[in-house]
Amino acid sequence: MAEQKKLVSEITSMDVDFAQWYTDIVKKAEMIDYSSVKGCVIMRPYAQALWENIQQALDGMFKETGHENVAMPIFIPESLLQKEKDHVEGFAPEVAWVTHGGSEKLEERLCVRPTSETLFCEHYAKIVRSWRDLPKLYNQWCSVVRWEKTTRPFLRSREFWWQEGHTVHATAEEAMEETLRMLNIYARFAEEWLAIPVIKGEKTEKERFAGAEKTYTIEAMMHDCKALQSGTSHYFGDGFARAFGMQYTDKNNTLQYMYQTSWGMSTRMIGAIIMTHGDNEGLVLPPRIAPTQLVVIPVASHKPGVTEKAQEIYEMVKAAGVRAKIDLSENSPGWKFAEYEMKGVPLRLEVGPRDIANGQCVLVRRDNREKTVVKFEKLTEKIPALLQEIQDALFQKALKNREEHTYTAKTLDEMKSILTEHTGFIKSMWCGDLACEEKIKEETGMPSRCMPFEQEHIADVCPVCGKPAHKMVVWGIAY
Ligand SMILES: [Zn+2]
Repeated sequence: MAEQKKLVSEITSMDVDFAQWYTDIVKKAEMIDYSSVKGCVIMRPYAQALWENIQQALDGMFKETGHENVAMPIFIPESLLQKEKDHVEGFAPEVAWVTHGGSEKLEERLCVRPTSETLFCEHYAKIVRSWRDLPKLYNQWCSVVRWEKTTRPFLRSREFWWQEGHTVHATAEEAMEETLRMLNIYARFAEEWLAIPVIKGEKTEKERFAGAEKTYTIEAMMHDCKALQSGTSHYFGDGFARAFGMQYTDKNNTLQYMYQTSWGMSTRMIGAIIMTHGDNEGLVLPPRIAPTQLVVIPVASHKPGVTEKAQEIYEMVKAAGVRAKIDLSENSPGWKFAEYEMKGVPLRLEVGPRDIANGQCVLVRRDNREKTVVKFEKLTEKIPALLQEIQDALFQKALKNREEHTYTAKTLDEMKSILTEHTGFIKSMWCGDLACEEKIKEETGMPSRCMPFEQEHIADVCPVCGKPAHKMVVWGIAY
């Protein structure tokens, strides 16, 4: 029979060319297709299913902490975008504009939202009157557009899908508490669901979000030891509130400005999953988020009873709450094995005539290829246990990779010499001066990732200027 699909051996090895390996995977695991607009990709069902699982998990965490979903318009009038000076300066270079409605030129240009702070500000200014209306804890799931010059599927695209939370509070303390609460939710989600260890910290002023007083981030290390900013949470103080006239009357009937936050996580996380866990055979998905956790593959299915038994097992496993699939297509078992390895399905269940005679089947782990022979009656017990083992192993492996590729440096020369041999995170002290941060970026190619919450004392002075330095910064080449 025709096996038209390309073979796994055609994937570029990640050790030879990581970027090409990534591109091969997103295509061959059927995650994306390119569209006719540069930088805009089609999320195919497999990627969309993964994104829906991400959405479901995050949305649950948002709602548990009192947030509500809303839907805002896709367009922002130019005058509205321009109300907050830093914000518009930050986004103007990558905004897409709508200038015509049909054949008629619009009186005012409309920007396609690159992010929705300004829309939420205008709305909050209208609907919040008194302290009784606060806080407002809104989130929206949507796509945004940023006209990027270089693009890569999931990592940087002109249109991408995300959630953006926007909240307003009566006090600075409450807004700051919210900012950190959401950062912690992102960190928990990355580690517990995606098996991606993250460093929580604060961005330097240079790397802050446009218009924010403080930006917090979770930073992850990919398999190639580059950094991926994986989620950010911003504290705006009352900056936007002053620009947009967002006021409320407090308990003493005095007008006060609101304090604001925003936070976002995007389809970038799909890229993070690929680049953290994938290998030369394809994707490796963490069981907790995988669209399919186990695939049942009958072996020698032409023999009597095999298909029936495979079907019976599939029904049983599904009833036990495992996200399972059965492949009864005419492709050979070998082809199927390669196909589901490419798709990163955490567990494969093989069952053939001899297994059936012995009342057992074989479970094969995607992450380490380990095979376990399991009696039918033990399956519903063994599968969830194995899925948990895989989830834990993936996290530990990623953590080990990060630990083995994190270095410390006391001087700029030391940083440069580390980079001649290694890629990874470098921890160093920093005096807080922009000039020193820029010099490190210029000479090493590494922007600051963050000032981790968990600080260490590496030296007494800044590696660049030699002045006293009290903050430890993590540096790394970033996606
Ligand atoms: Zn310095």
